[in-house]
Amino acid sequence: MRLILLGPPGAGKGTQAQRLVDKHGILQLSTGDMLRAAVAAGTPVGQRAKAIMDRGDLVPDDVMIEIIAERIDRPDTAKGFILDGFPRTVDQAVALDRLLDERGLSLDRIIEIVVDHTILSDRILGRAKETGGSRADDTEATVSKRLAVYREQTAPVADYYRSRGALKQVDGMGSVAEVAARIDENLRAGTDA
Ligand code: AMP
Repeated sequence: MRLILLGPPGAGKGTQAQRLVDKHGILQLSTGDMLRAAVAAGTPVGQRAKAIMDRGDLVPDDVMIEIIAERIDRPDTAKGFILDGFPRTVDQAVALDRLLDERGLSLDRIIEIVVDHTILSDRILGRAKETGGSRADDTEATVSKRLAVYREQTAPVADYYRSRGALKQVDGMGSVAEVAARIDENLRAGTDA
């Protein structure tokens, strides 16, 4: 199974992806996690990405596309994967289509977790408090920048998939378990549900 989880920062993509990993044994490919690992390891990509991430901007498309292409080509993705945090621009979505096409692969589902944007900032800053602020970009200024970047650059990705009839929307308001149940229902429902 190959899935994309779309939705703004704070929508619960990471939490839901992790649950799907536990349930279906497929891989979570979080570009945010990959970048944070690169920053921690001090790789050239990490050194370049750190300042961009800290201010809540997007890492350039060519860098991200190369990272995801390399990751998809590793053998552990054979059973499938959940993309979490990628694609984040329409150009990334187009590149992903091409990449999958070249490999004879397709996507089973593109699920957008839809939430009321007014709760996101509080949710993210609440999460930061709970986890002891482990993410450098969970500050008030960066969060508002990340939400603006989402509206301007990532919301069009949902439109891109919607216009091709490929998008499924799931209500992301409610508890983790409630949202999980809606995602499961959507996954069970078959491709034309
Ligand atoms: P996330 O953990 O998905 O919220 O990502 C954290 C940060 O990593 C983002 O605010 C961006 O700076 C960067 N990032 C993650 N994924 C991407 C992507 N697909 N394209 C560009 N930048 C990304």
